[in-house]
Formats: sequence, structure tokens, C-alpha cells
Amino acid sequence: MQLDEALGLITEIPDFPEPGVLFRDLSPLFAHGDGFAAVTDALAATVEPDVELLAAVEARGFMLAAAVGYARGLGVVLVRKPGKLPLVAGRVHYDLEYGTAALELPDKVVHAGARVAVVDDVLATGGTVNAACRLLEDAGATVAGVSVVLELAALDGRSALGGRKVSSLQLA
Ligand code: AMP
Repeated sequence: MQLDEALGLITEIPDFPEPGVLFRDLSPLFAHGDGFAAVTDALAATVEPDVELLAAVEARGFMLAAAVGYARGLGVVLVRKPGKLPLVAGRVHYDLEYGTAALELPDKVVHAGARVAVVDDVLATGGTVNAACRLLEDAGATVAGVSVVLELAALDGRSALGGRKVSSLQLA
């Protein structure tokens, strides 16, 4: 399946989870074997050759990073919502497009100096991915890039990510 066709499987749900938010739902894409494969291959191609590890942002980032990791022969570290990890290296609180949240990094998984690429589904305000990047950098890793399926241009998440390299499959 062509990438454009695969990206067309993503549906737009108005007013979820709050009035005024146009939610991009990747569920139909994840459920479509050829579509998921096309997006996985395209996302895998955005990851720099010297990357040693992928960081997956809960929860849809887990799906994408696992598939990209398999495609590229890379492991995945799960960046999780609080209360899920038994051993925590650090926690970062941040603002969302809708509300506030926090993320945690597991302890003793990311080694200092590691080159890590962050994977998520949607880059909106950039707060979530920026929190993941800060956790990784606090652990001594280098964020080699950020790879997302959809980038919501109007919210300018790139600015929140400073100079970090951002690759998106589609600008919306
Ligand atoms: P942000 O921190 O604002 O960049 O938000 C990104 C995170 O929230 C990602 O993990 C997305 O899964 C989710 N998200 C934010 N806005 C949307 C949206 N309009 N549609 C789907 N997911 C979204």
C-alpha cells in the first residue's frame, strides 16, 4: 500500500477528548496490516543510521516504536505515564493540548551517551515529546531525532522541541 493511502486510514474525530479538539485516531491504521506496514517502513526510514535505541511514548508510540524497532533491528525503551514502572530514573511534568500530564523513564535502561530516537504518533504542542527528550537527556542520552506520523502544524510543536531534529510523515 502507498504511504498516502495508509495515512488516509487515520480518521478525524471532532470534539474528543474535549470540545474544540480534532482528534486524529490511528486505530483504523493500526488495524490494517498493509497500512500499518507502509507507515512502519516510512517511519523506519526517518531514523538515523547511528541510532542505538528507540524511545516509545505511551501509548500509541509503543505500537509504532515496536514495529520500527523490529524493522530496524533496534530495541525500545518505554516512556510511561506515572505509576507503571517499578524502577524510575526520572519524572517530567508537562502541559498538554488538553490538560497536564507526566512521563517517567525506567531506571538502568538508557546508558549515558546512547543515541536515541523518540517515536510517537502525533506531534501537537510538542509538550509530550519534549518531556520524553528531557528524560532521555537527563539520563545522559543524546536525542538523535524525533519521528512521528502526524505533525499538527498549527500547534508548532517543533518550537517546543528546540533544535532537535523532527521527522513527520504528514503535516496536518
Ligand atoms: P502534545 O504534547 O501536545 O504534542 O500532544 C501529543 C500527545 O498527545 C501525543 O502522544 C498524541 O497521542 C496526543 N495528542 C495530542 N493531540 C492530539 C490530537 N489532536 N489527535 C490525536 N492525538 C493527540
